[in-house]
Formats: sequence, structure tokens, C-alpha cells
Amino acid sequence: RAKSLGGSRYVIYDESMQALGASRLQMETDLRSALKNDEFVLHYQPIVELKTSEIVGFEALVRWRSRPDSELIYPDQFIKIAEDSGLIVPIGAWVLRQACSVMCTLQQEFPRERPLTINVNLSSRQFSQLDLVHQIGRVVSETCILPGTLGLEITESVTMDDTDRTAAVVAELASAGVHVSIDDFGTGFSSLSYLHRFPIHVLKIDRSFTGRIDFDAESLAIVRTIANLARDLGMDVVAEGVETKAQAARLKSLDCKFGQGYFYSPPLDETSVRRLLHSQEMPMPHPRAR
Ligand code: C2E
Ligand code: MG
Ligand code: MG
Ligand code: MG
Repeated sequence: RAKSLGGSRYVIYDESMQALGASRLQMETDLRSALKNDEFVLHYQPIVELKTSEIVGFEALVRWRSRPDSELIYPDQFIKIAEDSGLIVPIGAWVLRQACSVMCTLQQEFPRERPLTINVNLSSRQFSQLDLVHQIGRVVSETCILPGTLGLEITESVTMDDTDRTAAVVAELASAGVHVSIDDFGTGFSSLSYLHRFPIHVLKIDRSFTGRIDFDAESLAIVRTIANLARDLGMDVVAEGVETKAQAARLKSLDCKFGQGYFYSPPLDETSVRRLLHSQEMPMPHPRAR
């Protein structure tokens, strides 16, 4: 359904729509050259364990800087066009490789008993690539990212597109040690009966619920229900968009294990990620000194 909305074949052009079409075309051209000129950058937003506030991993989020001194362009402004034009496939391939190679160096610099993880967003166009599992396997083996530390985020609509294929792909990914999260959970229309058929690792509660948890009984009920569902199905749960201390406290009381949001940290560039991880490093206990 959404796909046919992207095309202009079924509508009659008026002047403003023509302008819109022209600017889309311009955007496509710009995105293509952005790819060639290496103008995309990744920011990384910490995902924390709510109980300890410890960083367990990051979500990679793409941005576009068209000139060294110019402002960042956020994904809401170009991902849709990248999807419609198919450019999301090469852009997504770049994101995946970049995220894995950066995470590999972070894992070496900040070794942990449970190594840092990285999540990458996958659009439906990417998910329907027939050689997806192969491609991901290649990136994992060609970068030095530790096994079991890459996660992919897909939305409910992606999982519901072709449930048999989704089940097969998610299972293949899982056996390759790649975790799958459902992003923006609660906003789509996934069927619970399918959900348990997929070896999904994580449900990410959409930030529209997190943001209302303090004053809206329905949002609170939805978050509680998702947290219980995840627990019963053996999945982890991450609350997106945690902005206040009160929200964090409320989530903890619902046994929601992980959170992500401005309260903990906005998405950061690589340098700031290093600085943050350094500042959070515990002084190593020195057994012999005691
Ligand atoms: P998402 O995957 O749900 O990512 C979370 C978005 O929420 C990010 O926006 C993040 O900056 C924002 N966010 C994080 N914490 C808070 C908070 O406390 N409050 C509020 N209001 N917002 C918060 P961003 O980076 O603009 O990305 C928007 C969307 O673009 C993402 O939503 C994802 O769907 C898409 N996207 C981003 N990077 C990629 C990518 O590499 N590939 C694909 N296919 N999509 C991407
Ligand atoms: Mg995401
Ligand atoms: Mg999300
Ligand atoms: Mg989103």
C-alpha cells in the first residue's frame, strides 16, 4: 500500500506537485553523489541498562553532511526518498560496514566481560534483498566485530510483509549470531501469533509511549503489557525516548531492562562516544593491592 503512494503514476500533476517531483529528483541526485563523496556520517546513541545506567551498546543513526562546514541533515529528511529510489540499499550497506568497523575498534579499546553491542536500522528494501544474510555475514567476517554483538532493527511492517520469509531470515540471522530487534514496537500492526514464531531478540518500545508514561494511564498500560510480553516470550525490552528521570524510574518499576534516550545521552559522534566510555570506565579493582 505505502509503496504505491511513493509513485506519481496514479495522480494528476498540478504545479506544486511538479515542484515536489523535481525536488525529489534533485534529492536523489544529491544522495547519489553523497554516497560517492562519502558524505554520510554515523552517530551512536547509547543503550543503557536501566538498573545500573551502564552502557551496554549503541544504536547507529545515519546523518548526511553535504559539506565539511555545513549542518547535519537528519534521516527523516532523506531516508524516505532513499527507500523509494532504492538508494537505501547502497547507503545501508555503507552504514552496516561503518558501524561494524567502528564497533570493532571500540570493543578493542573498551573490553568488557559482556562486549559492547551495536544496532543498525534496516529498511524494508534492505530486508527484502535476497542475499541479505550473505551480505551481513560478509561484513561481520570482514570487520573484526565480535561475534554476537551485531543487532538489526526492523519495524513491525517489515516483519508482517511476508511472514514465512521473515521467519526464515530472522532464524538464519539468529544462527549467525545476529540479533533482531523490532523497532518502534506498538505503533504497527504486527500479529502476536507471528511474533512468537520469529526468534526476535528485542522489542523496542516506541518513544510515543515512553513519553506519556507519567501522565497517561493508557500509555503506561501499553508499556507494562509490552514489557510483560517480552519477558514471557524470552525477549529483551528497550524503552526508546527516555527523556526524564521520572520516566526512567517508572520503567524500572515495570521491570523494563534497557533504555535509550536524551535523559542518558543523545546520539554522539565517534569522538564523543570514546569520551563518554572513558568517563564511565570503572577504576579497575586491584586484588593484590588489598
Ligand atoms: P529510530 O530507529 O526509531 O531511531 C530513534 C530516533 O529517535 C533517532 O532519530 C534518535 O535520535 C531519536 N531519539 C533518541 N532519543 C530520543 C529522545 O529521548 N527523545 C526524542 N524525541 N527522540 C529521541 P534520528 O536519528 O533522527 O532517526 C530517525 C529515524 O530514521 C530512525 O528511527 C530510523 O527509523 C531512521 N534511520 C536512522 N538511521 C538509519 C539508517 O542507517 N538506516 C535506515 N534504514 N534508517 C535509519
Ligand atoms: Mg532504530
Ligand atoms: Mg525507534
Ligand atoms: Mg522511528
